[in-house]
Amino acid sequence: MKPMGQVPADLTGEDGELLIAGRRVTDIVEQAGSTPLFVYDLGIVRRRFDALRAAMPPALSLHYAMKANPYPPLLAAMTGIVDGIDVASVGEMRLALSAGAVAGHMSFAGPGKRDEEIEAAIGAGVTLNCESEGEAERAFAIGDRIGAPPRLAVRVNPDFELKGSGMRMGGRPTAFGIDAARVPALVRRIADRGAQWRGFHIYSGSQALDPEALIETQAATVALAARLAEEAGMPPPHVNLGGGFGIPYFPNEVPLDIGRIGAALAETLELRPAALANTDFAIELGRWLVGECGVYLARVIDRKQSHGETFLVTDGGLHHQLAASGNFGTVVRRNYPLAVATRFGAEVEESATVVGCLCTPLDVLGNQTGLPRADVGDIIAVFMAGAYGASASPSGFLGHGPAREILLGN
Ligand SMILES: *Cc1c(COP(=O)(O)O)cnc(C)c1O
Repeated sequence: MKPMGQVPADLTGEDGELLIAGRRVTDIVEQAGSTPLFVYDLGIVRRRFDALRAAMPPALSLHYAMKANPYPPLLAAMTGIVDGIDVASVGEMRLALSAGAVAGHMSFAGPGKRDEEIEAAIGAGVTLNCESEGEAERAFAIGDRIGAPPRLAVRVNPDFELKGSGMRMGGRPTAFGIDAARVPALVRRIADRGAQWRGFHIYSGSQALDPEALIETQAATVALAARLAEEAGMPPPHVNLGGGFGIPYFPNEVPLDIGRIGAALAETLELRPAALANTDFAIELGRWLVGECGVYLARVIDRKQSHGETFLVTDGGLHHQLAASGNFGTVVRRNYPLAVATRFGAEVEESATVVGCLCTPLDVLGNQTGLPRADVGDIIAVFMAGAYGASASPSGFLGHGPAREILLGN
């Protein structure tokens, strides 16, 4: 048997069935119509947001990086919870605006923004997090043409990286942002061109579970923003400190101590250099806010043996939940937390490998996991499915089509 991660503490069972937002999974599947299905519990998101709000300095804006989960009903709820939405394409920008997000509290990051995207963002009043000097020049020209000054933040490629981060984004050659040494010149150019300079965006990594690494990175980010502001000779109205808050997917990982991070950030901001005296600060989180609220449900459609190993073949798979198969930015495949939702809390009786329905050996949701006995018709729950699930998986692959999604709770 191979180990798997912990089921989030907010998810419990009753009479042998998993409950999500207080409802039995079999009821939820009946309401949604069928498996495979993503279920999101908004109550979990709200509790996490409230805990974050309490832990972080009161003046810090808390943004949602919507690429983690753009499901429209969830997004609509998020626009009423967070202080801003960060988007990564004009498609996301439109979804966010139609979900009720306020353009003035939105920013658009991502290399390779097309002219139409830049134009749409300027037209809507969304801040562009500029990823290159070339992008800034295109934004000036488009702003001139449509008669609206662009709102531009400069995305900085910092000279450091977030340690222990699942995905390192800084401190090396990258397509993201502008190398720190060239930033002051661009800031002056933005001002000279009459565009609205919105400050800095400094994002140095993702999925960090070490609070010390996050604390150190946030302090280094504030110091870098101050140094660049001094060199540019202009105080930034806004600094987006990035995110990077991780969640425990795998065995032996523990949740972040956000209280400690918030206290350290409060101190860092309290003691910030004079160049940042009037600056507003934000962080942008995706998976930390929504990852744990989602459960992916798939039904067992076959149970078989091969060379002594039991396989549970489900109607789901990596076309919906690529990350759980270990094929989304992981080096070594490890098991996400998983359970038989229709025998929740029952004793472990066997080792079973849970697979999806795709014709590829990559389609493994749980490798030799210890489970109660599951049969055809039982429902498997894969946890930690609220971020980078439905929208980050190749749902067109093999023609099974996308999963259903449902938002519960309030
Ligand atoms: C993806 C992304 C995020 C969110 O990352 P998470 O690991 O989901 O918190 C935040 N900021 C930027 C710029 C991103 O690209």
